[in-house]
Amino acid sequence: MNPLAWIDDQLHALQRRNLLRRLPAALKSQGAVVQCDGKPLVNFASNDYLGLASDPRLVEAAVNACRTSGVGRGASPLVCGRSTEHEELERRLAALEGTEAALVFPSGFAANAGTVPALAGRGDAIYADAKNHASLIDGCRLSRAETHVYPHADAAALGRMLEQSRGYRRRLIITDTLFSMDGDLAPLREIAALAERYEAMLLVDEAHATGVFGERGRGVAEALGVEGAGVVRVGTMSKALGSAGGFVCGPRPLVEWLVNRARSYVFSTAHPASASAAAMAALEIIVAEPMRRVRLLETAGRVRDRLRAQGWNTGASASQIVPVVVGAAAAAVQLSQRLRERGYWVPAIRPPSVPPGESLLRLSLTASHTAEMIDGLLEALGQCRLPPAT
Ligand SMILES: *Cc1c(COP(=O)(O)O)cnc(C)c1O
Repeated sequence: MNPLAWIDDQLHALQRRNLLRRLPAALKSQGAVVQCDGKPLVNFASNDYLGLASDPRLVEAAVNACRTSGVGRGASPLVCGRSTEHEELERRLAALEGTEAALVFPSGFAANAGTVPALAGRGDAIYADAKNHASLIDGCRLSRAETHVYPHADAAALGRMLEQSRGYRRRLIITDTLFSMDGDLAPLREIAALAERYEAMLLVDEAHATGVFGERGRGVAEALGVEGAGVVRVGTMSKALGSAGGFVCGPRPLVEWLVNRARSYVFSTAHPASASAAAMAALEIIVAEPMRRVRLLETAGRVRDRLRAQGWNTGASASQIVPVVVGAAAAAVQLSQRLRERGYWVPAIRPPSVPPGESLLRLSLTASHTAEMIDGLLEALGQCRLPPAT
């Protein structure tokens, strides 16, 4: 009797429901065009929004850091792992975000999974958007706080929950600012006003917005003018910043508390110096080249208009993430496959990443896409008529 035999059964069950995921071919390079199984594909799947992941300036910064600081860090930051690059990056992140301090985590996932339980525990309440990223959801689960999930982007419902559920020690509201699958924005002004009114903590996750939104590229909170000193700001260096790692910005005592209590920080080896150095190079580019993000968002607006003119449903997208909402998982997979045959890589997103019946194609626009690539994709989409819904 094989004690792991149940896994085969479960995999077959996933396949029958069109929910089995398989890793795509591993890639050698990255950018707007990638070679996949020997075939060039225009890549609309990557979150490298500003095209910085292969920028020579980031590569050089990473290589130089390896030469001076080595590759791995050998220990967690509290032991001996923290490099001078790591420290400098934290200073620069705090400067960019206009906060007292910043803390660099090994990944954005780790930042959320460690920070949420450090802020809320037994006897506390968390109020979470129904479409928050998995790392925030896991943070809620790890916290043992009572979690109240409010309907997606519904500030009125959040207000009612805050009004009706009282008696906790502390309360924490958490939300993505730019939702990763739908590309829509959280109603941050209303949420921040509620946090103030009910004296709740507020954590915002800017993972997809750092470097893309806001005059200085701080994110949606900057764009909407919601940057209160008490707000806990999470971001990642793995998307628009083209490197790797996550960060939390806020008041100095918050960062000191996380150094003591965020288990994903305390019990994980420090961020590699090469990734810290590359992220610093990216921060310089974000300051020096604001046109990258301005143009990206302009392009995204035009792409949404053209898709709607073709009759596609782009949901509530207001960003560089443009969903083409299809509905059934099988239809989304089929549409993605047809685009792939035409040379375009646009992933199908199925449950559990989206609710059942809301499967979509997730179109991720980046500063590296040319007008020809985008025209080609729209033409291909125009040719891909879907079968009638069943
Ligand atoms: C991608 C993402 C993360 C995780 O960031 P990584 O650096 O990739 O681990 C966290 N939150 C949101 C909203 C994300 O989209």
